Order: sequence, then C-alpha cells, then structure tokens
Amino acid sequence: MKSIFPKIQSILHLYDVLPENERSIVDVLRQVTRAHTPPYVKEKIAYNVPFFFGNRGICIIWPSFVPRGGITEGVLFGLWHGNQLADKDHYLTRGSNKKNFIRFLVPQNRLMKMPSANYCKKPYDTTGLRNTKKHFKIFLLYLSGLTPIIMNRTISCIIGWLLLAIPACAQTYISNVTVVDVVHQKLIPDQTVVIKNGIINAMQSSKDVRVPAGADIIAGKGKFLMPGLTDAHVHFFQSGGLYARPDALDLRKFRPYEQEIKWVHNNMEDLLRRYVRLGITSVIDVGSTYNFLEQRDSFATKDYAPEIFMTGPLLTSYEPEVFKALKNDDPFILVKTPEEGAKDVRDEILHHPDFIKIWFIVKQDSVAASARRFVPVLKAIIDEAHKNSLKVAVHATEQITAQLAVENGCDYLVHEVEDQVVSDDFVRLLQEKKIIVCPTLVVADGYTNTFGQQNRFSTYDLQNSNPGQIGSLTDLQHLPDSAMFNFIKKRLHLKQSVQRFARLDSNRSVNLKKMADGGVTIVAGTDAGNIGTQHAASLYPELTAMKNSGLTNWQIIQAATINPFKFLNKEDSLGSIAVGKKADMILLKANPIENLDNLTKIDVVINKGYALHPDSLIAVTPVMLVQQQLNAYNAGNLDAFLAPYDDSVEIYQFPDQLISKGKEALRQRWSPLFASNPGLHCEIKERIMQGHSVIDKESITGMGKNREESTAIYEIEKNKITRVYLIQ
Ligand SMILES: [Zn+2]
Repeated sequence: MKSIFPKIQSILHLYDVLPENERSIVDVLRQVTRAHTPPYVKEKIAYNVPFFFGNRGICIIWPSFVPRGGITEGVLFGLWHGNQLADKDHYLTRGSNKKNFIRFLVPQNRLMKMPSANYCKKPYDTTGLRNTKKHFKIFLLYLSGLTPIIMNRTISCIIGWLLLAIPACAQTYISNVTVVDVVHQKLIPDQTVVIKNGIINAMQSSKDVRVPAGADIIAGKGKFLMPGLTDAHVHFFQSGGLYARPDALDLRKFRPYEQEIKWVHNNMEDLLRRYVRLGITSVIDVGSTYNFLEQRDSFATKDYAPEIFMTGPLLTSYEPEVFKALKNDDPFILVKTPEEGAKDVRDEILHHPDFIKIWFIVKQDSVAASARRFVPVLKAIIDEAHKNSLKVAVHATEQITAQLAVENGCDYLVHEVEDQVVSDDFVRLLQEKKIIVCPTLVVADGYTNTFGQQNRFSTYDLQNSNPGQIGSLTDLQHLPDSAMFNFIKKRLHLKQSVQRFARLDSNRSVNLKKMADGGVTIVAGTDAGNIGTQHAASLYPELTAMKNSGLTNWQIIQAATINPFKFLNKEDSLGSIAVGKKADMILLKANPIENLDNLTKIDVVINKGYALHPDSLIAVTPVMLVQQQLNAYNAGNLDAFLAPYDDSVEIYQFPDQLISKGKEALRQRWSPLFASNPGLHCEIKERIMQGHSVIDKESITGMGKNREESTAIYEIEKNKITRVYLIQ
C-alpha cells in the first residue's frame, strides 16, 4: 500500500508534521548549519526535507519520519562530497543507494565519543573537491538524541571543511500577512514581503505577487509582521545576576569579580540567542568595556545574534573603587578635566564605539553645585564626540543634570528624570532639541526586590532568563553573612524606604507620560544586566510598565522599533518594514496593537534575513531544566516548577520505591506545600552532571524550623525530566 505523505511546503509545515523528538534534532541541526555557514548559503525544502546550498548542495537533513531517507529512526545528516572526509578511525559505516549516496551510519554511543579533531583536518580547504564527479556524493551522519554541543563541534568542523564558495540568490516570501507599519501607525493587510540576501526586497499586495517555484514560503495568513524589537539600554558587562555589581553589594568573597566578568564573556552567545528568541533583533549597550567592544564584532554575521550597537567604558564624574585597575575590563573612565575628556573620547574611538556615553553622577547633598562643576568636562566630551560624528548618551536622573546635559548638546538621555515631576519648559527643551529619552522603569525594582529578598518571578521571567543568573538572585537567602543581608532587607522594608521608592517610581512614570504627550521621542530600554534585570526577558515587563504609565500600544511599539534608530541615525536601514531595509522582523500569531501581550506570541523571528523558529535558538541541556525547576521552586511558582517535568514523570525513593507518577500527582503533592511555605528555599550544596543525569545535593529551608538535607538524581530524556530518585 502506498503511504500518503504530504508535499512539504515550508520548514514550518515540516515542523507541524514531525514528531517532537525528530523536530528538535532537525531544529538543532539547522541552527548549527546556519551558524557555521556564510550568509550566501541558503536553505530550502527539497525531497520534503531541509536542504542547504550555495552554488551546489551542501547538506540535507532527513528525519526518518519523512519517507525515502532510508532510515527507520533518528535523523540523517547528509553532506555533499562527504566521501572526502578524513575518517581514519573508521567511526562511520558506509552504505549506498541508487542515487550514488555514500552513507555513513554512526551508532549513537560511538559518535558521542568521537573526537571532533578527526573532522578538522583541513578546515575550509576545498582543494581536490572541485574535480569530484557531477553526480552528487553525499555523506550522512546518523543522529539520534545527541547533545547539541557534540553535534555543534562535530558538524561545524565538517561544514567548514566542505563549504564551496559561490553565492546563491534564494528568496523568502512571507505571504498574505498583515504588516505593522510603525512609522505611520497603521496595519496593512494581505501583503507579501520578499527577503533577499538579508534585505527586504519587495512588499506588495499579495494578489500582485507571483511566488516562483522553489522559493521559501512562510505562510503569513492570519499573522502580523512587525519590525524586530530593540532594547535601547543594556549592559553586557553585567550578567543580571546577584554578583553583577560589587559596588552596590560587595559579594566578591563569595564569587570573585573576575569570575563574573569571565562568565558574561563566555555566555554572551547564550544571552544574544535569548534576545533573538524573544524577537529582540537589536540591542544598544550604553556602557561596556574595551573587551566587550572587541567581542561585539565577532557576532556581526551570526544569525542567532541581534544587531549590537555599543559604546565603550563610561566617561564618568565618579568611579566606584571596585572597578579600578581592571584595565580593559573596566567599565569606567574617570574624567577630571576638559582636556582629559577630549583625549578619552579620542582614545575610545580607537576601539570603534558606536557612540559615546557619559555617566553624570553628582553628590546627593549638593546636586546643583556638583552638577555645574562637571559641566566643562561634559561639554568637552560632547564636543569632541560630535567632532568625530559620534552621538552622546548621558546618564542623568535629576532634572538639573539632565537639563545641563541637554543644554550642552547631548543626544540621548538613558534614564527618566526621577527626582521630581519635570517642568513644562524642560519637556519643551527636550522636544525642540530632538532629544531621545529612555525611561528604564523596571531596573530599580530589580535591586530592591533582590536585596529586600522579595523576588517573585513570573513564569515568563523564569522561562526566558538565563537560568543560572535569575537563580542567583535568591542566593542571599543562604549565603553566610545573613546578619548583614537581613539588616539590608529590613532597611529596605522600612516605611520611609518604601515611600521613597514609590515616589521615584511615580516620578518616572508621570514624567514618561508627560514627555510622550509633549512630543519627546521615547525609546524602550531596560538597563538589562543590572542586578535583578535579566537580559532579554526584562523587555516585555518594561513595555508593560510603559503601558501602565499611560502610553498607547502604538507609542510603545514605536519606542521599541523605529525610535532607537533615530538616535543611531539608522532609520533608513532599520526599525520598520520597508523595501531596502534590513530584514529584522517578527511574525506574530496575534495583533500586537490590539494587545501588547501578543508581542510574546512569536511564530517566527526573521533576523538578518534568516527565518528562525524561537524554540530552535536555545539548546535545552539537562542542567538547564533542573536549574529551571529549582528557580521556580525558590520563586514559589508552581506552574513554572512543573514545566520541565515530563507528563508521566516518576518519583522514586532511592533506589526503586515509586512514590509518585505523573505531573498531576506532582502538582497535588506540591501545591499545598508551596501555598503554606512562602519562604521555601533550596540551596544546591553540590551538583554533578553526568550525561543525561543531574545529581543535586539539596539543602531546604523555609519548611518548618529544621533544615532538610537530601540528594536528588534527575534523569532527563527528550528535554524533560522523566525520573527523579530521592535519597534522604
Ligand atoms: Zn545603564
């Protein structure tokens, strides 16, 4: 009997029909392939499966669910000219079929052990490949349930080795979609948007567009295509975790600052992937270091990374002690005289910043006087930057400092004024001088909630933040020095503290509305990286806070799309959907103008012209899942706690006494415990990671008087926790 298999129209269509396990392998393979091939390499559907090509075939990804791949389980990864690969250790099994495939099957356990060096003999050296016969030879790896890291290492080497360099010109069509026109504040229905070489090549009424055979099509019917979002205020030198700012709370004896900085450098890719996954296709780093400026450029062509605009170290009126002597990891340069200021700008220019930033910090007991003293330096910095065609962003949170910054030529205020409700004259000044203002409404709460030990993360926060960093925010509950931490906590909960924070909050909110009404250009930015403000995940709460200040959805969406590029002078190439602009867009399942929450309903992110499925951007690791449930446990969030568990999860008393089966049973068991123990806190004393298992030695407080110690062995299959063994 002939099996009926649909003709696959697009990647999304394929994903719809694939079983979950094959879909996730295909997803990882596609991402790895894209991450390691230059932009001219295109992807289309051929033989019903994903196929990558330059001037000729590069690789094909064949899930066993799609007929005629010649396999019964797993996913085949085939590479043209793969027969040229070095395989001296004979890890690969050879096979063939009618089409002159050469097939190599790798048993899972052997590929796991395979040293990637075997496949890196001659990276990018294609000598000898040009004479291979016309009929294609294909090399196939058989992959099933591998860790993405192993795949990444192995496959990236293979692809590098095999790549042939002549551009292709595939086009992607997003058909029958409603376009969100952020410039004119209107929705344009039934459009087809064409992307070619990373640029929006055409946008027309769907009835006027003929889609050529073989083109990539993304079905847009019933969906909304809007420009990618921008977070206009982030800091990559800060992790968002508890140890990010030793000048605010010095915890260096628990975690050395060098370790913290190393972490952010090593995990910048993870943070960038999180941004793009949430549709944030551009970020503006308004205070970094020379080392981060250098790292910025390494992400320029990566499909998983947003466009990164970055300044260097902050030129400042005050430098916290803890950052001194960090050399190229120092986020601050203290400036004492106008001459120094001009010279520091010229020095910074050697590191190619996208703009210059001033940290305008004044003595709180003599705000106006100390502000005026810094003005000559401020002016010298701004003048030198403008002379070199660089714009200037200024941190100024008092009306007087902000006003002096504006009067002396600054372009961008990276915070809202918070010390008072701003005057009408001040608003007029900003409007006339075309100053850009970023309110940063949520960052202060990040500090007070963390130091006040009252973090209550939402499921959205927990699912979208880096698990290690958001998890660190509750560490104060178990670190030694609890007397000091309790003192800080008490102080923050004092009535006058609470009133003061409420007043600052209210001022920021009132001023935002007043400025927006007065025609000032507003941009959305979070100050992500500060303690308690997570990279990527904090933008949506920030936009919600803007909404609560009284801005309309259109105003907020403009602030998060087109407006930031007015500061960067890049309105012509970014920030809206128009022919000739870069293809940084989000395809949403619902209308964001009707409801801002629909910004979280992302179907596809188009980043630098690449269509990316959000779920494909972060490879879920066993430790990530275990950390996510731990974070949710510490946040008292039952739904987020249950999310990483498989529907039929089994909990055992070690070694083999089954005590609970199924997620629902887990909910029944934990629901009353969560409800009656709001101070529940679990500290990991030790963690061992081994293959698909994570072993945590846990110490639990907040449940009665006693501390409970136990060990849990988590077993993970197909991105879910399937079994837990408890040793008590
Ligand atoms: Zn900042």
